[in-house]
Amino acid sequence: ISELLSNSNPKFTYYSDFDRSSVNSIDVDKFDNIWISFHGRTVYKFNRQQNPFLWYHHIEDNLNSLSQSSVTMVQEDRSGNIWFNTDGLERYDPVNGKFTHFKYDPDNPNGLSSPFVTSISEDKYGYYWIGTEKGINRLNPKTGVFNHIFSNPQDLSGNVISEVLISKSGDLWVSSPKTGLQLYNIEKNKFYSFDLDTTSTEDEGTGIYEDHTGILWCNTYTYGCFAVKIKDYKIESVKHYIHDPNNRNSLSCNLVEDIIRTRIIDTNAVWIATNIGLNRLDLKTETFTHFYVEDGLPSNFILKVLEDNDGNIWCACSNDIAVYNIKTGKISSYGAGDGMPFTGFGSRPQNACKTADGQLIFSGGSGSLGFYPDQLKQNMQIPTIYLTDFKIFHESVKLDTSIQFIKTIELPFDQNVFSFEFTALNFTNSEKNQYAYKLEGFYDDWIYIGHERVVSFTNIEPGEYVFRVKGSNNHGVWNETGASVMIIITPPWWASAWVYIFYAIVFLSIIYFTWKLQLKRIRIKHDYEMSKFESNKMHELDNLKSRFFANISHEFRTPLTLILGISKKILDKAKDQVFKDDIGIIKRNANRLNGLVNQLLDLSKLESGNMTLRIYPQNIIPLLKGLVLSFASFAERKRITLKFNSEEEEIVAYIDKDKVEKIVTNLLSNPFKFTPKGGRIEFGVKKTDENVELVISDTGIGISPDRINKIFDRFYQVDSSHTREQEGTGLGLALTKELVELHKGQIEVESSEGKGSTFIVTLPLGKVHLKPEEIIEGKLEGEDAIPEELELS
Ligand code: ADP
Repeated sequence: ISELLSNSNPKFTYYSDFDRSSVNSIDVDKFDNIWISFHGRTVYKFNRQQNPFLWYHHIEDNLNSLSQSSVTMVQEDRSGNIWFNTDGLERYDPVNGKFTHFKYDPDNPNGLSSPFVTSISEDKYGYYWIGTEKGINRLNPKTGVFNHIFSNPQDLSGNVISEVLISKSGDLWVSSPKTGLQLYNIEKNKFYSFDLDTTSTEDEGTGIYEDHTGILWCNTYTYGCFAVKIKDYKIESVKHYIHDPNNRNSLSCNLVEDIIRTRIIDTNAVWIATNIGLNRLDLKTETFTHFYVEDGLPSNFILKVLEDNDGNIWCACSNDIAVYNIKTGKISSYGAGDGMPFTGFGSRPQNACKTADGQLIFSGGSGSLGFYPDQLKQNMQIPTIYLTDFKIFHESVKLDTSIQFIKTIELPFDQNVFSFEFTALNFTNSEKNQYAYKLEGFYDDWIYIGHERVVSFTNIEPGEYVFRVKGSNNHGVWNETGASVMIIITPPWWASAWVYIFYAIVFLSIIYFTWKLQLKRIRIKHDYEMSKFESNKMHELDNLKSRFFANISHEFRTPLTLILGISKKILDKAKDQVFKDDIGIIKRNANRLNGLVNQLLDLSKLESGNMTLRIYPQNIIPLLKGLVLSFASFAERKRITLKFNSEEEEIVAYIDKDKVEKIVTNLLSNPFKFTPKGGRIEFGVKKTDENVELVISDTGIGISPDRINKIFDRFYQVDSSHTREQEGTGLGLALTKELVELHKGQIEVESSEGKGSTFIVTLPLGKVHLKPEEIIEGKLEGEDAIPEELELS
């Protein structure tokens, strides 16, 4: 134990100050760790497994080691020697464990041209082609002589070589940050240059890799990488792969460190190490898949990538190495805790190689790390996963039991910001445990979160969810069952099921009533249109009738005038009373006919707008009195009391005398038709401030309320047996109304069936309502003559 402790053996984990004198106890745990405790507080943990890592480094005062630990280049040649670059070139022969040093000596023209060697490649003749920061060197291993070759002898800065590689055809690929990609024809000693990116003047070349199909992969530090085919020293095709922020399936980062094409299982893929993540380019679909810390990588800074003999992908990340298991698709990593002799590969340039017997070697700032992948022991212990804490609004929640035993958590809708903490019970390199979670019901895919042990949720909608977390141990062995807890977020009262039903009912009723209303509106509109249609029809019919009557009225007039003239003459001369009576009947009927014809003509005049007023101011009382008187004998004959009432003796009004006569005659003749014997008809005249009112009332049969509105329509007669007994045309009131309106007056009727009717005509006084051309100043001659007694039946 003393011997073990004295070495700075990486297998030891030192736990506290110790007193080596007395061992208290020694124990072995299931991970093969030996725990040694001493009296007092001192404990050691010792992993007794064989360290699988080989460490190529400088050992002080030992010429048979690297002359420096910082290694920038490592390559194996065909005879199995491993070449390193430290402050010169070093060759290691694994068979006898011997190192040969090729030191840089500026005074030796046959030595290395620069101490900074970036790459080495052996040709078929056994010469070594060496890329340095000052040109290309060719080493003859038999003589130990280095020949110097410059592609650009004038400008030595143009001869910084980042990589050389013997091509399948025996030429030498040369990559340089200044001149880009070149091909050196060894036999002709001639350089060919290729411009891969014609859009850029800079020809940066960082590394080259030729895959088994002859495609050359060139990486750069600033603009991604190229896949190039060259034939007969000419570019046949170039494909440029760059990071496109808008394309999730493009390269993850334009700073490309390394490229390999895999051959063993995954034959259609190219793996690309970048500064931000590991990429797998699928050559069939030309799309990139990315791998990051969340997927289990120890870091996103990937330096080198190699394929082992089982087809798994190994890469050097900034501190650790990681492996992508080609069968499971899972990533695990190895670091200091697994016995790795140093932490950190340092900064660029880096190099790596796979030897013929399957050893993977990654070079770094503290030496080179070699290992055989199948010797790296995997921790196969499936870790148990526990929830360790539950927080609402970043505050731990006090639960009845430990969170790991809780099956369901119920939260009100306004407490939906919560987080879980969890852990995988694996204590070997526990910082490399990985986790993934999902919230079923919200997002059903696993979300890989790398080594993170907390996950938070904000503003989760009300509903039922299952939170699941799974985890892996340090070597990516997953516990797929993990731990889970059900979360129920209850909705607020205004979003509960009952309230939704209520919303639905309200919504449906609104729709129902709107629909009803709409239906009603359509019906009303339809009715209105129907009635409009009907009234239009009626109007048309009226017009037709009027026109017809107007036409024939003219024809009737002349014969009527003749009949009237002659019957008057005969009446004057006749002596025989019986004969006289007969002629009287002829004259009376001819007069009636004449009156009707005149009414028809008046109406058609009104209709065509040819009826003009001839107005002058006059006292209307004598005129009205005269008109009423003219009905006196008729009233007497029918035994009806006829009265004329007026408080005024003089009312001067602007009227057309002829028209007013017609109005009054019409309004007086109706009551006589509809008032039975012993009835009473009164004619009143009243003066108000602005109007004169003529009121004609009777004690006749009256008009039923449903018909009263129609009596002013043309050709309308109240359809009752009584009225039908009376002669009439239904024209009188229509004409009267229009004549009143011509005077800007109004006519109204009040009636109660069986009791009588009252017609009221209101005519405005003064002349402001009249047109100047309607007024005739000065009285016309003969106009004042009282009309002759009317002859009615
Ligand atoms: P008519 O030539 O048929 O009398 P009117 O236009 O003068 O035509 O009157 C229209 C209808 O109004 C009459 O047929 C009658 O039914 C009704 N009417 C008018 N005046 C009266 C009234 N004073 N009493 C009862 N019914 C009346």
